[in-house]
Amino acid sequence: MKKRIVLFLLGLICISSYLQAQNRVDIDGRLQPILTEFFEQCKKYDIDYHSKLFQLKNIDIVNHLPLEENNTVLGMVSRDEVGDIDNIFINWAALLDNEILKVVAFHEFAHHFLDYKHTCNDCKEIMAETNVSYFDIARDWDNQVKILFTTSPIYLAKRNETSVATALSF
Ligand SMILES: [Zn+2]
Repeated sequence: MKKRIVLFLLGLICISSYLQAQNRVDIDGRLQPILTEFFEQCKKYDIDYHSKLFQLKNIDIVNHLPLEENNTVLGMVSRDEVGDIDNIFINWAALLDNEILKVVAFHEFAHHFLDYKHTCNDCKEIMAETNVSYFDIARDWDNQVKILFTTSPIYLAKRNETSVATALSF
């Protein structure tokens, strides 16, 4: 009987912490479809995104990022005291064009979910620090997404692990 109560309580604790974790991430509805698309790609390349998702507090469209002639930030991640990403912010100005929005959102998502740093200062890649043309990337979208995922630090690390495991099993 006592055991059953303990199990029941344990169950309750698990459910409530699960619900709390669920509630913790606040996702702007305008970014949700792009995030869903990004997660579809994660599934395709067998990259787990659940734990990283629940490390976040917000995935949000904001109006506090700079938008000046030589100082424009269309997206950024913020970090907590220990250096982990806790928020993904997208500048409202990126909403003006769907293709720009998608490139910017995938760029910021990849920083967090794929462990990316910038691949170059200024090139035609999603992870370039600055992009000369979002439209070049948008035109080459499927290929760009494939490059983004298959050359990502998290994918390469996983592939190395698998090959080590295969080597050990022989
Ligand atoms: Zn970046």
